[in-house]
Amino acid sequence: MRVTVIGCSGSFPGPDSPASCYLLEAEGFRLVMDFGNGALGVLQRHAGLYDLDAICLSHLHADHCVDLGAYWVARQYAPGGPRPSVPVYGPPGTAERVAGFGGEGTEAVLARFGFTDLAPGAFEVGPFLITVDHVNHPVETFGFRVEHHGWRLAYSADTGESDALVRLAEGADLLLCEASFLDGPDVRPNLHLTARQAAAHASRAGVGQLVLTHLVPWNDRERTLAEAAGPYPGPLSLATSGLVLGPGAPSTLPRADG
Ligand SMILES: [Zn+2]
Repeated sequence: MRVTVIGCSGSFPGPDSPASCYLLEAEGFRLVMDFGNGALGVLQRHAGLYDLDAICLSHLHADHCVDLGAYWVARQYAPGGPRPSVPVYGPPGTAERVAGFGGEGTEAVLARFGFTDLAPGAFEVGPFLITVDHVNHPVETFGFRVEHHGWRLAYSADTGESDALVRLAEGADLLLCEASFLDGPDVRPNLHLTARQAAAHASRAGVGQLVLTHLVPWNDRERTLAEAAGPYPGPLSLATSGLVLGPGAPSTLPRADG
């Protein structure tokens, strides 16, 4: 499996990255996980516009799904006619949410995307075995575990502290974990993780590598890394747009504390 970080900016796009989006590739199959603001643009550096085989959405906050509306336009009005339907896995209500972005109604959206409602459990998408479970966020949100040939990726989506996230990430080779907050008195529970909490989840799950993501542009990146370095002893880094991860990619990354 090859994992490319398309967008890792938290809550809204930053100067160097779109909002949440990850491209997962194996055996020629391309799966996009989340589709936040600006992702469709950068995604075209890494995959052909019409070469996506499936899309998974963790939840329906705009910074995780709004560019699916843009992708609908790209498929609906393609030169030579509309492109075939693509499978989209998301929370119940995804079709209506995407229709709201395009303004042409749910039926028009249903013509270009085939929606499947996510529910806790495991299912296969192309060569991937995907397990999802509810995590701890104000709207229905799914964390992911994606496996291919024994290699295991976990993705937190947006979450506050969550035992389900630890279960999904148990023994994973790589955890892409959100770290929206820094330590401080104004951290709100049941919304997002601090970098320190993300690292504690990674440690509890015993993951092989932790990459912090959903990095909000107003946070200091070095402080994010430093606050995670204590609770997680393994390879730790911050996501950047264009970062490639997975078997064959460099697995030993520099520690925050050297
Ligand atoms: Zn969210």
